[in-house]
Amino acid sequence: MLVMKFGGSSVANCAQIDKVLDIVRSRANRAPVVVCSAHKGITDALVNAARAAASGTYEPERVIDRQLAIARELGCDDALLAPLFQEIRDLLRGVHLVKELSPRSLDYVSSFGERMSVRVIADYFARRGLNAAAHDVWDLGFVTDACFGSARPLVGFESRVKAAFAALSPATVPIVTGFIGKNERGEITTVGRNGSDLTATLLGAALGAHEVEIWSDTDGVMTADPSVVRSARNIPTMRFDEAAELAYFGSRVLHPSTLLPAMSAHIPVRVLNTNRPEHPGTLIVESATSAASSVTSIAYKERQFVLTISSTRMFGEGGFLADVFATCQRHGVVVDLVTTSEVSISLTGNQREPLERAAAELRGMGEVTLVEGRTIVAVVGQHLVSRPGLGAEILRAVAKAGVNVEVLSYARGSINLSLVIADADVDRAVSVLHRELFESA
Ligand code: ASP
Ligand code: MG
Repeated sequence: MLVMKFGGSSVANCAQIDKVLDIVRSRANRAPVVVCSAHKGITDALVNAARAAASGTYEPERVIDRQLAIARELGCDDALLAPLFQEIRDLLRGVHLVKELSPRSLDYVSSFGERMSVRVIADYFARRGLNAAAHDVWDLGFVTDACFGSARPLVGFESRVKAAFAALSPATVPIVTGFIGKNERGEITTVGRNGSDLTATLLGAALGAHEVEIWSDTDGVMTADPSVVRSARNIPTMRFDEAAELAYFGSRVLHPSTLLPAMSAHIPVRVLNTNRPEHPGTLIVESATSAASSVTSIAYKERQFVLTISSTRMFGEGGFLADVFATCQRHGVVVDLVTTSEVSISLTGNQREPLERAAAELRGMGEVTLVEGRTIVAVVGQHLVSRPGLGAEILRAVAKAGVNVEVLSYARGSINLSLVIADADVDRAVSVLHRELFESA
């Protein structure tokens, strides 16, 4: 069995969905399970409509018209989506009346994108001669916790998923919603924005798939963001941990949690380009070995905050770090990078309010600064550990470009060297690093 996930741009319109049809047909003999995102832009439009409704503007027809145009372009009967359109109107009416949008309501509104896209895609496929049927993933055993906005399936959901899929006709390709789920009370949840990748690997792991294919619009995972570095190139194979670091540190190709289920179930993940299906893309596996000289990729994450606390109390005293992190935890700060010296600690995070609350409390322990507008640049590769001088090359390159490094993080045996720089310096830093690490002999 093969799980294939198609992202929003892959199912944006009729021309794209035609490409998807050809790709699914080419895998027909591998028992494909197709997981789809909403059409590009629809989830954003739903979220905007929900926010507008909560602040007084009831405008369901904008997103409905957009979806309807795609459905009509694909030749679907208007009746196909009419019940969902009515549900959107009713729900937004409710949000508009009570003027509040809880995380639960937001998940409910967001869920329509995938519910609509799988219906039009399956309907179109069937009319084009591919036997296909649309499924809301919650009808296939995907039961989650009640963490709206970042729900995860309940322990043991795998057997429910297996049983549900076993009952489907093997002659019909299931077209399944990504991104959404339901909790045990039957309330709609989502796994988080861009989460359809994660749905795909979770289903793949539950079903013991041979492989999970993630179809998007780049030639697999690239050595750097191709919109910043024009000479960025494809990475043919990489290890799970390398891909996970990259996803976490801003590579836009994969959702950060995507690889965990595949990793623990030992299922290879292949990242492919819907617009160039003949390109081999990137194969992510447990033990890919790359040339000893190479780093794997450069990723970056903008709009970060750096909190620094300096105190002579740290000097020679135990428990200071524990106090700082306990404070961060109390205020819900998610920490990405940490560096410490004898008298100061710097840490990064990306949510202003929790950091401001933590900073206020930490002022009782020392001198605290909180700066914004910073970017984490991560250089990732399994050979960082063993290639002498690589750190020097990285810093020299960045210095040559006139970019100031404010924080630097690298641990023993790490596959990720991270720098914190100003947001304004990102393009320069990433381009020069790419040139130095990938383009010079
Ligand atoms: N449609 C959802 C989003 O835009 C999930 C996804 O595309 O993966 O976030
Ligand atoms: Mg996506």
